[in-house]
Amino acid sequence: MGLLSLGKPLSWDETKQHAEHVRQHGINQFINLFKNLKDRNDKTLKWGDEIEYMIVKFDHKNKKARLSLKAKQLLDVMDSREQLEGSNRAVLWRPEWGEWMIEGTPGKPYGIDESNYSGGGSLAHFNVVEANMKSRRQEINALLDEDEALLCITSYPRLGTDDFSHPFTKPDPKNSATRSQFLSDDVISSYHPRFKTIAENIRERRGRKVIINVPIFKDSKTVDPFNETFDDEESDSASKTDHLYLDGMGFGMGCACLQVTFQASNINEARVLYDQLTPMCPIAMALSAASPIHRGYLVDRDCRWGIISASVDDRTKEELGEEPLNHNMFRITKSRYDSIDSYLCEANDKYNDILLTYQKCYYQQMIDAGVDPMLAKHIAHLFIRDPIVVYKEKLDQNDEIETDHFENIQSTNWQTMRFKPPPPQSGIGWRVEFRPMEIQMTEFENAAYVVFIVLLTRVILSFKLNLLIPISKVDENMIEAQKRDAVKRSKFWFRKDIISLRSPPEAAKCVEATGCCSDNCCEKSDSETTPFDESCVLMSINEIINGKGQQFPGLVPLLKHYLSSIELDVDTQCTIQQYLNLIANRASGKLKTTAQWIRDYVSQHPDYKHDSIVNDTINYDLLMTCNRIQKGELNPRELVGDNPRTKTNL
Ligand code: GLU
Ligand code: MG
Repeated sequence: MGLLSLGKPLSWDETKQHAEHVRQHGINQFINLFKNLKDRNDKTLKWGDEIEYMIVKFDHKNKKARLSLKAKQLLDVMDSREQLEGSNRAVLWRPEWGEWMIEGTPGKPYGIDESNYSGGGSLAHFNVVEANMKSRRQEINALLDEDEALLCITSYPRLGTDDFSHPFTKPDPKNSATRSQFLSDDVISSYHPRFKTIAENIRERRGRKVIINVPIFKDSKTVDPFNETFDDEESDSASKTDHLYLDGMGFGMGCACLQVTFQASNINEARVLYDQLTPMCPIAMALSAASPIHRGYLVDRDCRWGIISASVDDRTKEELGEEPLNHNMFRITKSRYDSIDSYLCEANDKYNDILLTYQKCYYQQMIDAGVDPMLAKHIAHLFIRDPIVVYKEKLDQNDEIETDHFENIQSTNWQTMRFKPPPPQSGIGWRVEFRPMEIQMTEFENAAYVVFIVLLTRVILSFKLNLLIPISKVDENMIEAQKRDAVKRSKFWFRKDIISLRSPPEAAKCVEATGCCSDNCCEKSDSETTPFDESCVLMSINEIINGKGQQFPGLVPLLKHYLSSIELDVDTQCTIQQYLNLIANRASGKLKTTAQWIRDYVSQHPDYKHDSIVNDTINYDLLMTCNRIQKGELNPRELVGDNPRTKTNL
C-alpha cells in the first residue's frame, strides 16, 4: 500500500515541521519527471493485477477461526526467494497493513503488443492470469500450517472481537498508535515501521481517533434502536444510533481488494484510460461487492469503500468544516482515501463539476515549468495533503533523480484511480491504476474481473468509446454502489451514448450487431453536441453490462463483439467467454455477488438468530466453507455458475 523507504519514520510533531519541505521537493521532483518523461513512448501495453490475501487459523476443536499474525514470517521467506531468483519469479509478495495480510502480484507484468490493439496480439495473456493467481496461492499454502488457510476475503467478519487473532493481545486504548478499543498495535504489519506510523500520525494529525459508523443491517430480531456503549467518552460520543461503530485504521486498511494497473503507450493514452475508467469505478465495485460483515455484525453496506475512507481520514476539525480555519489552509471535502475529483483530459474538463481544492502556488510552479493545467491541477490537488510518514534519512534528496517526496504524497492519496508517472531510470511507462474492486473468493472470479476491466480498456481505446459523465454523478454512484445488493436494487448514472462521433466504423458496426439502434447511439448525440447534464441516464447494472434493448448496447455484448472480430486462440477465447459470462450473470442477478452469498450463508446458518450477530461458530463455518470453495472442493452454483472450467495455463 505504498512507498517503503529505509529508515526510521518521524513522529507527527517532527513530520509536520518537514511537511512543506517534502511537498515543495515533491513538486520539484514531479516537474523533473514530467520534463524528462512526458514524451516517453512504450510499444507494449502492459498490465498486472494485485490480490490482497488474509491468513486464517482454524481451531477445529472449539470451532473458532482466528486471523493468523504471521505475514512477516512469510514475507521473510519470500524476500529471500526473490533475492535468489530475482526477475525470474512468477509471483511477487509484498506486505499490507495488517500482520495477517499479504499481497501477491505476477512477477512480471502481462504484455500486449500495442501495434496490434484490434488484432489480438498477445491477448493470449488473458489465459495466464488465473493460472498465475493459482500459483500464488500454492506458493503460500506450502508454507502454512495444516490448520491455516490463505483466504481471499474482503473483510474479516470478526475483526476486532474478543480473541480474534492468533496470537491475541488486548487492545490498549490509552497508549496504542490508533487508541482503538478493539485492535491492538500487534495486528499492524511488523514488516516495516511505516504501517504503524501511518496509523499513529493520522490519529495525531486529526487530533482524535478515527470515527467509522456503518449502518447496521436491521434483521427481524436486531435490537431496535441499535446502540452500543463502550465505557469511553470519545467512543460513546462518536458512535451513532443504528450504526456499527469502528475506531481504528485496521477496520479499513485491514480490508482486501483487487487492483489492476495498466501501462499506457504514452502520457495522453494514460489520461484517456484514467478518465474513461473513472465512471466504471462504482459499477465494478458494486459488481464485486464482498464485505457485508464487520466486527461480528451484518451491516447494511456491501462494500468496504466508506469504511476505509473513514479509517484513514486525517482531516482536522478545521479541514472538515467543524471549526473555523485557523491553523489549516483548506476546507477539504474528501478523505485521502476517496473517489477522484477531476478528469485529466482537456476535452473532459466540462465534466469536472465538483469543487477541486488545490495548492495555487504549486499549480503555478508546474504551469511555469510547462505542465498543462489539467495535470497541474490534479497534482496540486493531491498536494493539499501533509505527508504522514517522513524518514529523517530521506529528507535531503536530489530532485533531479529521486522521487521519494513526490511518491510520499502520491502514494498516500488512495483514490479510486491513480495516475502514475514512470519511475525515473526505469523501463516502466505512464500508468493508471484501477482500485475500487473488492476481492473475490476464487482465482476464476478474480481473473474474470481483471480480464473484464483489461478488455474494456482495449475496447475503449480501439473503438474510442466515451463513458464520461459529470464527476458529481460518479460520486453519487459511489455512494449508491456500496448499498446492500446495489446490483439488484440500485440505479446508476451512466452515459447514454458511449459510441462517440470519433469512433471508427467498427464501433458502429459493433453496436448494430449488439442489436442497439445505431441512430440512437452513433449519430444523434455525442459529447460535442449534448449538454453534459443530459448526456447520462439512470440505468441498472444489468442494463449497463448486458444492454437495454434498442437504447444501450451493454458493455459485455460490446466486448464479445470486439473479441469475435479479432484473432484469438481457441483456449483463450473459451476462457474469456466464461469470464464474461460470470460478469454478465452477476450483473443480471442470475448469480449472486459475494456479499449476497455471504449474507445468505449467515442467514441460513442454524446458529443465526436474525439479530445481525455473526458469532464465532457462524464465522468458523463460513470461513471453512470459503476455504473449501477456494480449494476447489466446493462449487456454489449460485455464485459462479455451472462448474466453470477455464483453459487457463501458465
Ligand atoms: N487494502 C486497500 C483496499 O482494500 C488498498 C491498499 C492499497 O492501496 O494497496 O482498497
Ligand atoms: Mg495493496
